[in-house]
Amino acid sequence: MASSPDVLVIGGGIVGAASAYHLARRGASVTLVEAEQLAYGATGRNLGYIWIHTRRPGPELELVMHLRRELEELPGVFDDDFDLRTEGGLIYAHTEAQLATLAEFVEQRQADGVDMRLIDGDEARSMAPILPGSVIGASYCPLDAQMDSSRYVRGFADAAARAGATIIEHAPVPRWGWGNSAPYVPQPWEADQTVRKSSE
Ligand SMILES: Cc1cc2nc3c(=O)[nH]c(=O)nc-3n(C[C@H](O)[C@H](O)[C@H](O)COP(=O)(O)OP(=O)(O)OC[C@H]3O[C@@H](n4cnc5c(N)ncnc54)[C@H](O)[C@@H]3O)c2cc1C
Repeated sequence: MASSPDVLVIGGGIVGAASAYHLARRGASVTLVEAEQLAYGATGRNLGYIWIHTRRPGPELELVMHLRRELEELPGVFDDDFDLRTEGGLIYAHTEAQLATLAEFVEQRQADGVDMRLIDGDEARSMAPILPGSVIGASYCPLDAQMDSSRYVRGFADAAARAGATIIEHAPVPRWGWGNSAPYVPQPWEADQTVRKSSE
C-alpha cells in the first residue's frame, strides 16, 4: 500500500469506487477508504435503474448516455457480472388522456434525440407480462437498464485494485471539527481493518 497515495478517496459508493478505478487506470496511486463496507450508503440501497426515459436534454442526458455506452464495455473489465439487464423501460397508460400525454411526451423525447416510441397495450404486456389488461399503451425506451448496484460498486473496486489501488473497508475517516463542511483528516490505517486486493 502506498503510504502517501496521490489520491485518497473517502467513501466506497459508486462515486468513490468508479473514481478509484478510473484514476488507478490512468496511473495514479490511489487509496480508497470506506467507513463500513463497500456500497454501504445510497448506492447499495437503490433499485439500480439507469433511467434514460426522463433525463433532461443537455448535460444530464449527455452524462447518462456516456454511462449507458460504458455499461456495454464493463462486463469485459469486471471479473463478476453485475446482473445488467438491458431490456428497456416503460411508462404505461390506463386512460386515453394518459395515452395522449405519453404520445406528446414521446414526440418531444424523439426531438431531443432519445430513442423512444409509443407502443400499444399488447406490446407492453408482451414485454412485461405482469401488466394488467387495463394498460392501453406505454412509452418505451429501449436504452433504459437496470443492475445490481452493490455488485457494480464491487466490480469497480476490484478492477481498481487490479489496477494498483488499495481498498480499505471498515475505516471511518474522522472529520476535523464540526458540521458537514469540516474537512476529513486522513490517518494511518489499523491492522484489523479489511484491506482488499492490492498490487502493492
Ligand atoms: C432510495 C434511493 C433510490 C435511488 N435510486 C436510484 C436509481 O434507481 N438509479 C440511480 O441512478 N440513482 C438512484 N439513487 C441515487 C443514487 O443511489 C446516489 O446518487 C448514489 O448512490 C450516490 O453515490 P455516492 O457514492 O455519492 O454515495 P454513497 O453510495 O452514499 O457512498 C458514500 C460512502 O461513503 C461512506 N462514508 C461516509 N462517511 C465516511 C467517512 N467519514 N469515512 C469513510 N467513509 C465514509 C459511506 O459509508 C458510503 O458507503 C437512489 C437513491 C436513493 C436514496
